[in-house]
Amino acid sequence: MQEKLPFSRLKQRVDVLAQIGRDPSGGITRPFGGAAELLARQWFVAEAGIAGLEPSTDAAGNMWALYPGEHPEILAIGSHLDTVTQGGAYDGALGVVLGMESIQTLREQDYRPRHTLAVLVLSGEEPNPFRLSTLGSRLLTGVLSFEDIAGVTDDQGVSLTEALRRANAPSHQELALSRLRGFIEPHIEQGARLQEQGLPLAVVTRITGIVRHSITITGEQNHAGTTERDRRRDAVQTFARAMEVFQRLETQFSGDVRGTVGYVSVFPNSVNIVPSQVEFIVEWRSPQQSLLHAVAETFWTQVQSRVHEMGLKVSRTVILSQDPVSMDRRVQELLHHSIAAYHPEHPGLVSWAGHDAAHLAKKMPTGMLFIRSNGKSHCPDEDCTPQDMARALDVLITTLNQWDQTENLKELS
Ligand SMILES: [Zn+2]
Repeated sequence: MQEKLPFSRLKQRVDVLAQIGRDPSGGITRPFGGAAELLARQWFVAEAGIAGLEPSTDAAGNMWALYPGEHPEILAIGSHLDTVTQGGAYDGALGVVLGMESIQTLREQDYRPRHTLAVLVLSGEEPNPFRLSTLGSRLLTGVLSFEDIAGVTDDQGVSLTEALRRANAPSHQELALSRLRGFIEPHIEQGARLQEQGLPLAVVTRITGIVRHSITITGEQNHAGTTERDRRRDAVQTFARAMEVFQRLETQFSGDVRGTVGYVSVFPNSVNIVPSQVEFIVEWRSPQQSLLHAVAETFWTQVQSRVHEMGLKVSRTVILSQDPVSMDRRVQELLHHSIAAYHPEHPGLVSWAGHDAAHLAKKMPTGMLFIRSNGKSHCPDEDCTPQDMARALDVLITTLNQWDQTENLKELS
């Protein structure tokens, strides 16, 4: 399989991309709007030309590479080219390269598509200096409007509008949403479930919902030595009680819900002062909407009572509330059917990571193909074997062909 031309080209493209934004301290750093991401954009436009596809950039900075079919309606396949700080070579990049390779291969086989086939690179999927992840998919689907982003700047005062201009995004242009008939995002699994089961590929069933709450516990700043026990209003001690609640809920619902407290800020954060304030962000994830909200609200209710028992104050801000999203049933079936031609086992898996596909799924038939990775992601050690990339390419070529032939064009004629 490795000897086949599309595969060696696929591997070469992944390797070339992995050099763009290579961070001297490890991994690949290619955030939206940075110099490395602009280079990756240039790479994509050049490669689209080599592949015989028609590249363009839309007003959201999303890049398209079209293989025109009988009809203008688009079936797209792709992912993102930006990375986290010191990320790996496969998150996002593999989906883009697989999209390019599958459409280029069909073109080289003189396949004449009914729909227009497109590689779609969604801009700013990862957290970026403009604090707007999944930027391109949210603008494309109208979750975010151009008015919403008009005043957004990064820490250096560069406006998002200027960053989009640098990415060659035209300022006034209809987004192609109405032409998009469907989207498939191939992506490394990022977790270790496929590796543990010894399976190469899976079909995503649902993308997890995510709720993030910023919670601030406020006590009283005072002298560490002279303040007696019953006069202390210690925000860190109270935070520790909140973490007991967190651990209990996290254990009780493990398997169905994942909780993380990954951000904690203590004020004044000094060795000889009773701390007056702790701000922390609790994140809950679950593919089950009612459970997700029930756990998040139970945590908040119990934290409030613990904090009040200890004589402190607490407030909460909702930072993110994203419901779980199901992948399109027909696209799932197509992917299962395609994998079955190469491998007897093809499980359906929940995606515990957020993806652009979650936004696109609300507007059009959308699916995701998971490719086995080594259980490490958002880090330099991220890995995916050449054999699994080759398997994914075969499956995607089959899927695109079938999808193009079977997708209903009735309303177009
Ligand atoms: Zn990704």
